[in-house]
Amino acid sequence: MSPADDPPEKMLFQLGLRRRGISDQAVLRAMEEVPRDIFVDPADRDAAWRDTALGIACGQTISQPFVVAYMTGQLRLRPEHRVLEIGTGSGYQAAVLARLCAHVVSVERFRTLADTARARLAKLGYDNVEVVLADGLALGEEIGEFDRIVVTAALPEIPPSLIGLLRPDGIMVAPVGPPRGRQTLVRIQSTPDGVERHELFDVRFVPALPGIAREM
Ligand code: SAH
Repeated sequence: MSPADDPPEKMLFQLGLRRRGISDQAVLRAMEEVPRDIFVDPADRDAAWRDTALGIACGQTISQPFVVAYMTGQLRLRPEHRVLEIGTGSGYQAAVLARLCAHVVSVERFRTLADTARARLAKLGYDNVEVVLADGLALGEEIGEFDRIVVTAALPEIPPSLIGLLRPDGIMVAPVGPPRGRQTLVRIQSTPDGVERHELFDVRFVPALPGIAREM
């Protein structure tokens, strides 16, 4: 679609991201190309291009676009990267990542969400995303190592086991803080001298919970 064919709400969406300080051209392009309206509840299609989080199945949420763009930018993705996402939800963040790196493994604890996101991503042609039903807080080494990790559910603290899945020079971005309050977006960078930690800004995410969900 040429810009002239874009619906006005999509142009406002891009403008809003730029106004809020997203300047990474590759991230902006990915945000433009991923059809957010396909990832929201059909009843919320009209609100899909607004900069707000929206409810999805299983009491979860699709994140606010600004936060998705910001977290993606903080990952400093390169085309060869292998990326882990914890908290597939709708699959939207995974789709944005998939446009900017070689391979995405996205982990979700609700079967319904994992199955729906997997089918949606396949239908849209994102064949470099693997959606896995698992507890992202209890991943074994068999999941492999990653250049980048993004957590999209709130953690009380970053588990050392997750840092252990990062390759040297790896970057992880995660919301850290109490489950029902404000969390802080944290960027962890592994360096030869250990782990560097930067606090970015306050966010509000649904909590990361242990185990595969018993309800569907
Ligand atoms: N990234 C998503 C939004 C995520 S909402 C999107 O773009 O739509 C947070 C998701 O994390 C929810 O779907 C929730 O079920 C999932 N989650 C919470 N704890 C988890 C865990 N331990 N392992 C895997 N997924 C988890």
